[in-house]
Amino acid sequence: MAQTQAQNGRPFRIIVVGAGLTGLVAANCLQKLGINHVVLEKGNIAPLKGGIALWPHSLRILYQLGVLEEIKKVAKPCRGFRGYGADGRKVYDTQMYHCIEENHGAGMWPIERTDLLQILYDNLPDKSSVKTKINITDIKQFRDRVEVELADGTVETGDMIIGADGVHTIVRNYMWDHAAKVSPGLITSAEKTSKSSSTWSETLIVTTPPIPELGYRDIVITFQNKFNFLFTCTHQAVWAVVVFQYDEPVTHPHRKRYTDADAEALAKRVLDKPVTDQLVFADIWKRRREPPRVVMLQEGVLENWHHGRICLVGDAAHKAHPNIALGGNTGIEDVAQLMNQISRGVDASPHKRPSATALDGIFEAYQNEQKPRVKHIVNLSGQAARMHFSYTPIHKFLGNWVYPWIKDKWQAAYIGQYFSSASKLEFLPSKGFPAGKKSWLSDVEDETESQDSEQGFKQHQREGSVKEILAY
Ligand SMILES: Cc1cc2nc3c(=O)[nH]c(=O)nc-3n(C[C@H](O)[C@H](O)[C@H](O)COP(=O)(O)OP(=O)(O)OC[C@H]3O[C@@H](n4cnc5c(N)ncnc54)[C@H](O)[C@@H]3O)c2cc1C
Repeated sequence: MAQTQAQNGRPFRIIVVGAGLTGLVAANCLQKLGINHVVLEKGNIAPLKGGIALWPHSLRILYQLGVLEEIKKVAKPCRGFRGYGADGRKVYDTQMYHCIEENHGAGMWPIERTDLLQILYDNLPDKSSVKTKINITDIKQFRDRVEVELADGTVETGDMIIGADGVHTIVRNYMWDHAAKVSPGLITSAEKTSKSSSTWSETLIVTTPPIPELGYRDIVITFQNKFNFLFTCTHQAVWAVVVFQYDEPVTHPHRKRYTDADAEALAKRVLDKPVTDQLVFADIWKRRREPPRVVMLQEGVLENWHHGRICLVGDAAHKAHPNIALGGNTGIEDVAQLMNQISRGVDASPHKRPSATALDGIFEAYQNEQKPRVKHIVNLSGQAARMHFSYTPIHKFLGNWVYPWIKDKWQAAYIGQYFSSASKLEFLPSKGFPAGKKSWLSDVEDETESQDSEQGFKQHQREGSVKEILAY
């Protein structure tokens, strides 16, 4: 698509707030689409250390953007997935990731977060569109534009804003304020509190050098009582998270802030607890190589992901528990879906500049596609987390006695429904991404050019789950 130019001389312009995972994926898409944009980041590019695991549907999008080869230079796919009981006894050892790779051409790839963000940034042909150390002081919406005021007195003007500013988003707050003025009653207090009313856990994040007893391409989970260990073990590092259940949930607008002393105190609570049959947590803690951190783990999905000229993606719109490593992946998929809608909307607009009404339609179509999928993942992530730390006796029973008996192939088939039905970027080729046994619904749609995508997803889910599970 050529650089979009409106009749009045100003090109269609998008302001992206946040240059984290979703913001940088969005910037890459916008540069491929040739859409004028600016990315405003309050900090630096790629600041935080820690691991993030990528799954096949996101890897395919990253392949389309041209960064998969770079990712493969620093990351390797996971092989083992082992679970241990509270006493350190092994309760399962699965080959699920291998089955997923067979089915979808790629399994689960953990990568250092900083590396991923740097790769995405380095891939941008024009880096001048990304501005760091930006302090936003106001966001104003008008009939024909949106303005973002910055602390240095400058103003960024555009047609729309993508709020990619994470779980503590300010873009969402401006969106809510605007909605309260022009659509009173749309955003309810129930919605405002829902995103964090169920914040019932926090996590200690520790990074160590690789630990031979844990393996180099393995995920290790230890079920404990009211907490659990979750370790991503690679040849680069062990990214360890220890998830603790709060005694009382923390509700909106309260936010806990943590100090180094809090991290020490949490670690001390579990130093003597078995991680595996060979290690206790003290063996991990003593090898920590960066200052440990503690963060709250919000969980939830907003009902309204857009209003006026603002649209939210990633953690600004929804937050999944990290125990099945899909929160950031859903954010990548959000961006792909939104970019497809924007690309179609721009092409269909008389002067390649969608009106406010057209933008509303674009955002609504994006939300309608993504929200059911994200709700499914947020729910699944929450249930997995509860199983991992024995939230109720039923969760304990499921984790220790039912889950270990579910065949690897069945698990891969179940989650595979979600992968195969994910969006890809419609405006970039996907040919060349490794093929698996299962087809991608979006490729089937490309071939037939007839399936309605929502019906297709539901139909595929229904048919696929029955057929595939029976096949094993
Ligand atoms: C311990 C842990 C492990 C996880 N592991 C995984 C995993 O393995 N796989 C997975 O898929 N997901 C994982 N997640 C979730 C994943 O990290 C998030 O879903 C993902 O980072 C969200 O991306 P985002 O772009 O929406 O937000 P972020 O990555 O948080 O990026 C937001 C960006 O916006 C910037 N920003 C914030 N406010 C402003 C402002 N006012 N102005 C300008 N810029 C601003 C921030 O500085 C940041 O750069 C994990 C989460 C945790 C806590």
